[in-house]
Amino acid sequence: MTNAELFIRETDYPDLNIPSAAAHLQGALRFPTVSHVDTSRTDYGQFDALHAYLRESYPHLSARAAWEEIGHSLLITIPGSDASLRPALLMAHQDVVPVVPGTEGEWKHGPFSGDLADGYIWGRGAMDIKQMLIAIMESAEYWLSRGTEFRRTLYLAFGEDEETCSVGARALVETLAGRGVTLEYVLDEGAGDVSDAADYGAPGTLVCTIGMYEKGYGDLRVRASSHGGHSSNPFRGTSLGDLAEAIAAILRAAPPPRLSEAVIRALRLLAPRITEASMSVWAKDPERYGVELLDWFCRHESLYHQVRTTIAPTMITPGAPAANVMPHDMEAVVNLRMIPGDEPEGLLERFRAAAGNRVKLDWLQQIGASAPSDLDAWGYRCLKETLERYFDRLVFIPAQNKGATDARWYERLCRCVMRFGPFLEEEDISREGVHGVNERISVRTYAQGIRVLTHLIEKTCLNGAAE
Ligand SMILES: [Zn+2]
Repeated sequence: MTNAELFIRETDYPDLNIPSAAAHLQGALRFPTVSHVDTSRTDYGQFDALHAYLRESYPHLSARAAWEEIGHSLLITIPGSDASLRPALLMAHQDVVPVVPGTEGEWKHGPFSGDLADGYIWGRGAMDIKQMLIAIMESAEYWLSRGTEFRRTLYLAFGEDEETCSVGARALVETLAGRGVTLEYVLDEGAGDVSDAADYGAPGTLVCTIGMYEKGYGDLRVRASSHGGHSSNPFRGTSLGDLAEAIAAILRAAPPPRLSEAVIRALRLLAPRITEASMSVWAKDPERYGVELLDWFCRHESLYHQVRTTIAPTMITPGAPAANVMPHDMEAVVNLRMIPGDEPEGLLERFRAAAGNRVKLDWLQQIGASAPSDLDAWGYRCLKETLERYFDRLVFIPAQNKGATDARWYERLCRCVMRFGPFLEEEDISREGVHGVNERISVRTYAQGIRVLTHLIEKTCLNGAAE
């Protein structure tokens, strides 16, 4: 089955001009807004050109919204008439990752061609994430072009370097924070994985995830020192032996798994569809059956990372030059992805105690898990209802987001920061295209995403918008 078979109400908003929306995305893909960690390599002229292009493509937004360039990031404010309502914010990033050197020849259409062919719009950024940026613009322009009044203020925020340093998103947040803004909800790219719920004990049920937080990230360095020497006399052990023991101890000292609020909600939503005998009982009462559920999750490859901080030893250097030589100083790196509640500082102490004093531990880099969003928030309910309106047979469940996005910086302004790109492209196409080759989106997937955003704006920002 394809994701497109799940699309419903494709006739909503019949006056949405899809060919024109497709042309606007094609145009946006032709600006190689590639961001680099070394910003001296970033061609900011492309970002300026993209801004000019957006201005001329969306005359009503140009006329009725306030446009601000913050660095090379863009903040567009559509003022609402009711100042008592907290604003909403839709976001995406303007930058794209480079084309992987050596793969240029594998693209059926040039990565910055913006070609429309075989029902797809082709180019770097078609799935990550210019389709969302342009779809947001299309939806806002749609309402403004009809003379509709916004009751709730809507911000459109487009960072310049999500793929590298997130300086742009932080500057946007700083600007809003400086104005005392707090937000009703934020919607960013992310999640949107459609999968069979067999591992939950509900085979045949399709679930789709809405990202409500991000796991933390850490690279833990483990160092062992040694003067080397001949391996016939390893009286004090070797640095490699010490590292091996320390890594094993760190793995054994993994913090216990925990059920997050998102997992508990997901289980309750799925409970009526679960046919597996024990899970059908446990999922109805996750608080009572926590031990059983954690055990179940930890035994399933698609689920375990939702309930535990993962620990993956990934690097070790340098080793000895020969089998009969003891290695000198060595170090290893252990990569961690932390669930909320497992904080980097506490973990470091825990692992130091476990690894003993023959090794030294420190973080090369770390950032704790983001703050889980409020699952009772009005914005979350509105998004869920909107998605259920446009996608048939999917159970939308809250979950952690797979990767890191700019969204986490907005958590200080908002308790409902959602990661969900409503572009349910077929999995093989997104897998190949996102950060890979032949990035493309079908016009049908793109159009359905525009309908979702158009409806979400109608439901939450126009006259009649509740709360
Ligand atoms: Zn992205």
